[in-house]
Amino acid sequence: MPLGISKNCRNIAPSATLAMDARAKAMRAAGVDVIGFAAGEPDFDTPVVVREAMKDAMDRGMTRYTPVAGTLEVRQAIAYRLKEDYGLDYELNQIIVSCGAKHTLYTAFQTLCNEHDEVIIPTPCWVSYPEMVRMAGGVSVFVECKEEDGFLPSIEAIEKCITPRTKAFVLTNPSNPNGNIWDEERLRALVQLAVEREFYIISDEIYEKLVYGGKKHISLPTLSPEAWTHTVLVGGVSKSYAMTGLRIGFAAGPADVIAAMTNYQSQSTSAPNSAAQHAAAVAYTMDQSCVEEMRQQFEKRKNYICQRINAIPGLSCRNPDGAFYVMMNVKQMIGKRYGETVINNSSDFALLLLENAHVALVPGNAFMAEGYCRLSYACSLENIEKGMDRLEAFVKELK
Ligand code: PMP
Ligand code: GLU
Repeated sequence: MPLGISKNCRNIAPSATLAMDARAKAMRAAGVDVIGFAAGEPDFDTPVVVREAMKDAMDRGMTRYTPVAGTLEVRQAIAYRLKEDYGLDYELNQIIVSCGAKHTLYTAFQTLCNEHDEVIIPTPCWVSYPEMVRMAGGVSVFVECKEEDGFLPSIEAIEKCITPRTKAFVLTNPSNPNGNIWDEERLRALVQLAVEREFYIISDEIYEKLVYGGKKHISLPTLSPEAWTHTVLVGGVSKSYAMTGLRIGFAAGPADVIAAMTNYQSQSTSAPNSAAQHAAAVAYTMDQSCVEEMRQQFEKRKNYICQRINAIPGLSCRNPDGAFYVMMNVKQMIGKRYGETVINNSSDFALLLLENAHVALVPGNAFMAEGYCRLSYACSLENIEKGMDRLEAFVKELK
C-alpha cells in the first residue's frame, strides 16, 4: 500500500475564516499594520471573574479527567442559564460539553448522519458546516438565500429540499456570516416541517446574546414540546463571554442524542479541559451585566461600520440584526482593476485589499456567497474607522 493521506482527509477544505485570520496575524507579526475584519473573535478581555475562576481551578486541583459529558457543575450551570434566559428545561443527561461549539457540531453530525443522509443548509453559511457534514458521510443540500430577502430562506424553498433522506436542518440564529435573525413565524413553520417530515434541527445559537435594534432572541426549543424534541441546541461561551481560547461549547437535546454524542466523545476527545469547564460554569452563573455591556459595544460598531460601507460608492450592505458580521456586497467591484490586476471575484478583491491596503476580510466564496465579503466588527471602533478609511481609499483607486 503506498504511503499517503486518506481520500477523506485530502478533500477537506481548510477553514477559510481561520486561514484569513492566520494570514493577517502573520503579516502583523512581520511588522505590517493590518486591520483585521476576518476572524469572528471578540476583542474584549475575558471577564475578570472568569479569568480568576480559571486560575482558581488550577489551585483547587481541577486538572483531572472529568465525566465525558462534562462536570456536573458545568452542566448544572448551562441548565440554569437556559432556564433563566428562556424557561427551558434540560436534565443533566440532556447536556454535553465539548471543546468549543465547533467540536459539538462536529460530534452532532457524526452522531446523526448515516452515509448519504442529507442535511439542509441555508446559504450563505458558516464555513464549517458543509465540511463537517461531508466528514460524517452526509450530503449537504443548500438552500440559496438572497440579500433582498434578508438572506432568509422561504419555507417553500426549504420544503423543496426535503427528501426521504433528510436527516437534519442547520439553523444558525443569529447567523454567521450574514447577521440576520429568524422571525417567530418562520421558525414555527420550520418546526412544523421538521415534525411532519421527521428531521432534526441543529439550532446553532452561539450568537444568542448578540441581537440588536431592541429585538429578542428566540431559542428554537422554546416554541413547543415538538420543537424541543426535534432540536439539538448548540451554544457556547466563545462569543458571549469572549472566551474563544478556552474552548467550551455545548449541546442540549433529547437524551438519546446526547448519550450517543457522549459515546462518540468518549472514544475521540474525552471531556474538554477541566479548568475551562469550571471557568464556563462561572461565566454562566455570574452576574451577566458584562454580556450586555459587550452587546452594546457591538451594536455601536455595527451601526458605524454599516454607515461607512453604505457611504462608499459601489459597496453596500444590509444592516444586520445579530452576531458580529456584516456581508458587504462587492458585485460592482467585479471587473474593475487595481493597477494592472483585474478583480474577477470576491477572493481577488479580498486579496488585493489585504496586500495593498492592509485590511483583512473574508471573501464570500468561503460562505457560498460569491459577490460578497464578510467583515467581522469584533474589533475596536478606532480600528474600524481606520479600516474603513483604508477600504474607502482602496475602492477610489479602482478603475
Ligand atoms: N457556530 C458558528 C456559527 C460560529 O461562527 C462559530 C465560531 N467559531 C462556532 C459555531 C464555533 O465556536 P467555538 O468553537 O469557538 O465555540
Ligand atoms: N466562527 C469564527 C468565524 O467564522 C471563528 C473562526 C472559525 O471557527 O471558523 O470567523
